[in-house]
Amino acid sequence: MNPIELSFEFFPPKTQEGIDKLRATRAELVSLKPKFVSVTFGAGGSTQQGTLDTVIDMAKEGLEAAPHLSCIGSSKESLRAILGEYRAHGIRHIVALRGDLPSGMGAFGELRYASELVSFIRAEFGDWFWIEVAGYPEYHPQARSPRHDLENFARKVKAGANSAITQYFFNADAYFRFVDDARQLGVDVPIVPGIMPITNFSQLMRFSEMCGAEVPRWIARRLESFGDDRESIRAFGLDVVTDLCRRLVDAKVPGLHFYTLNAAASTRAICDRLGV
Ligand code: FAD
Repeated sequence: MNPIELSFEFFPPKTQEGIDKLRATRAELVSLKPKFVSVTFGAGGSTQQGTLDTVIDMAKEGLEAAPHLSCIGSSKESLRAILGEYRAHGIRHIVALRGDLPSGMGAFGELRYASELVSFIRAEFGDWFWIEVAGYPEYHPQARSPRHDLENFARKVKAGANSAITQYFFNADAYFRFVDDARQLGVDVPIVPGIMPITNFSQLMRFSEMCGAEVPRWIARRLESFGDDRESIRAFGLDVVTDLCRRLVDAKVPGLHFYTLNAAASTRAICDRLGV
């Protein structure tokens, strides 16, 4: 097995129990020597302190920790302040997103798209940050058309992103096609596939519905047939996602970014099976 760069995504816990669980998860995953870990951010700043605290906690352990930052619903002033705080803490890696407005929150803020956030970060902070952006092999659910979405992706990269992480997918061909199409548009940065381990059928279907990722019928039907048998769901999910990762690794993708949902077991099992 070729060496492959791994990264792990976490969300900021809200309770002491959640903080303890995340520390245990991290302790189990650090032995896989991730290139970096990332911490999500609630649009409009709802997890601002939690994201900062979690990132600092991880950085203290010597991990390269990248906070996510979304611009929707935020002012330039507040984004500048958050970015300044990260810089003051020596954080140099960031995942720049538009985000989604929480229901009931009306104002879009001053920056409408991730491309504008990337331009803003470059204008205000120069090359201090290594900037990741999001890509959508199965297209963003609000995209006007696949072509328009690809052009927006290329615009966002050209605004100054260093690298991209994709939404999760279970159809490797969608990813390969997306990368080819992006290259045609002059995107030359690494496009790292996002990997979602399968552990819970209803949660997976809910997430996928929201973010526009397709769960192929053969996978959904099999998972559904297991009912409450969590062990069978886990075992089948492990087979499916490991096969997907193996195909991606064989195709020499630049890395694998795992959506861990703050749990170590599935990510760990997939990496062990891959031999990374
Ligand atoms: P954009 O790149 O701005 O695109 C959003 C939509 O607008 C697309 O349909 C695009 O085609 C369209 N668009 C872009 N530019 C233009 C333009 N100039 N004119 C017209 N249309 C345009 N969400 C969170 O809230 N917190 C997180 O921490 C978080 N982390 C994520 C990490 C990854 C790796 C991924 C893949 C997603 C993450 N998300 C997160 C979800 C993300 O915020 C949503 O998918 C959001 O709806 C889009 O964000 P974006 O940065 O991709 O937006």
